[in-house]
Amino acid sequence: MKNRIIRMPEKQHFVIEESEMPHARRGAVVVRIEYCGICGSDMHFFKDGAIGIRKAPPNFILGHECAGTVAEIGEDVTDLKVGDRVALEPGLPCGKCEFCRKGQYNLCRDMHFMAAAMPPTQGALREYIQYPAEWCFKLPDNVFTMEGAMIEPLSVGMHAAKRGEVGMGKSVLVVGVGTIGFMTVLACRAMGASKIIVSDSLDNRLALAARFGADVTVNIAAEDAVARVMEETGGMGCDVVFEASGAPAALASTWKYVKNGGVIVNVGNAGGEVPFLFGELARKEADIRSVWRYRHTYPDAIEAVSRGVIPLKDIEPTVFPFEKAEEAFFYAIEQRARVLKTMIRVSE
Ligand SMILES: [Zn+2]
Ligand SMILES: [Zn+2]
Repeated sequence: MKNRIIRMPEKQHFVIEESEMPHARRGAVVVRIEYCGICGSDMHFFKDGAIGIRKAPPNFILGHECAGTVAEIGEDVTDLKVGDRVALEPGLPCGKCEFCRKGQYNLCRDMHFMAAAMPPTQGALREYIQYPAEWCFKLPDNVFTMEGAMIEPLSVGMHAAKRGEVGMGKSVLVVGVGTIGFMTVLACRAMGASKIIVSDSLDNRLALAARFGADVTVNIAAEDAVARVMEETGGMGCDVVFEASGAPAALASTWKYVKNGGVIVNVGNAGGEVPFLFGELARKEADIRSVWRYRHTYPDAIEAVSRGVIPLKDIEPTVFPFEKAEEAFFYAIEQRARVLKTMIRVSE
């Protein structure tokens, strides 16, 4: 039997080809990938062949939001068996360094992350993949494999919410409700936020966020967002402000929305320089925090989906077959403002 992979010989072009079947080494399993979501980073690599200065390696395999079924287990694997459905956490840290030992493994300097250019690591757009068992998280019977493939973007939202110390009684503003902002809304809801305000310039996104738990929607193109947020928070501002749009101007204005002593969480990671009035931030003694991927989120995220606290299946991604992966990427890029998630059905 042969494996099938999708490689990218040049930007905006995929080739499907056969390759050798992987076999499970000690402590590892072979997973038959069923679904793989297309992330913003995948879109950048596909469209431009690079993300900023980070060039896609030759014959890159994209994709890191994946889930599938265990097809083979290696020696010493005790927690998984053939037929188990699993979500794969796409980053493999070294396990030995200062950060790994402290549990901050997302900060490991020797992290191998699927479909990342530094260091070049191949992604998940292939039928079979060999993967360490400890990074494969079993899905309960009531969680669909397709939902398993969305645990990765959900993890970004969950980690952001944890960084913002969201909890009961907290008011939250999420600026920008693309996929990451949307996942942040879901995480904040699950973690007990009392009031969730979202802002965006697109009505369809705002409507979707409202359907999934946002209490107040603000269209920044149609109204004065600062005035509206103040009105909704008794003139105080929000305890936690998430910048999830990636727009430099949006990050620059976050201080206006945060409550005294509150927290700004930068999830959107705007490229380039951002002018910021730190003096205004100081007057509020507010914190500004960054987010790099996530850590320790998979078990909690899967449990929240299983208990119905986070309705991932209602996202209803647009799904393309393996053979139409190239079309799927063009679609995801063109429909980015409208479609929350595009996925590849890697195998049946
Ligand atoms: Zn992703
Ligand atoms: Zn490490």
